[in-house]
Amino acid sequence: MEVNFFKEMGVKNGISRLFVGGVHGKEGLSTINAIKMAENITVNGGSLVLCNFPPSPYLSTLDPLYYLSLAGSKLLDRVMKNQPEIYLELHCYHPENYTKLTRQDRKEKFGVPGLVELENGVLIGSVSPLIRSTFFDLNDFPFTLEMPCNPSEESLQTCREIMEIVAGSGNRQEIMEKLSSAYPQRVETLNSYFKDFSRNFHSAFEKIKQKSLKTPLKDYPALEKLINDVLDEGNFDLNPVQIKQLEGAFLIFKEYGSFKSCKLNTNKSET
Ligand SMILES: [Zn+2]
Repeated sequence: MEVNFFKEMGVKNGISRLFVGGVHGKEGLSTINAIKMAENITVNGGSLVLCNFPPSPYLSTLDPLYYLSLAGSKLLDRVMKNQPEIYLELHCYHPENYTKLTRQDRKEKFGVPGLVELENGVLIGSVSPLIRSTFFDLNDFPFTLEMPCNPSEESLQTCREIMEIVAGSGNRQEIMEKLSSAYPQRVETLNSYFKDFSRNFHSAFEKIKQKSLKTPLKDYPALEKLINDVLDEGNFDLNPVQIKQLEGAFLIFKEYGSFKSCKLNTNKSET
């Protein structure tokens, strides 16, 4: 099956949605099956762009190098073009990685909470914090859906149901409410992760950005000092892995030309 895929659906103005597969490695060979299923779903106002990328070297999306690689920059080009408020990254995993993705201590080890299983091996969680604060507003919906690689019909059906909810909704709150009626406890967990993210990582990152505008950073140690100052001044509950991620997120923010401030200043209806 052809792995490259691109399709724009819906109308140009209004809410922007992007579903993307084949983010890294050979995942596109599996995610194309779900992306193609989304071709005929109903888009409720605004637009939906479906996109699937061909194989690329595997770099984790928790590694800042991914976003500086060819595959990562192609993905972010797409994000910058569409400026989605609703963003779904489709990934796939091998069975031996299930525990690594869902474990309770994933935040301690990898800086992000464990993904939550919906049904049929389909897992959900937020996208990498490296782009979460850089390319999205706090109340956007930037999520990751992980299906087993070579997905079964049942797994694909679960993905389809989630994609239908997401394409049929106009904002994060609406999506979470609909998901909650199908998976109440899972959504409660996701909401608690969101609160934690908003109070800690997101707030610290906003402070770092504000401070960096006042004090231009000369070199890397200056960035480390700025981050330490922010952490000393605020009462953030962040572990060492997350503090490293703040640094990575800031470097990506800089590399992509302070994208978010551009996003806030662009009038979408004119473009
Ligand atoms: Zn992946």
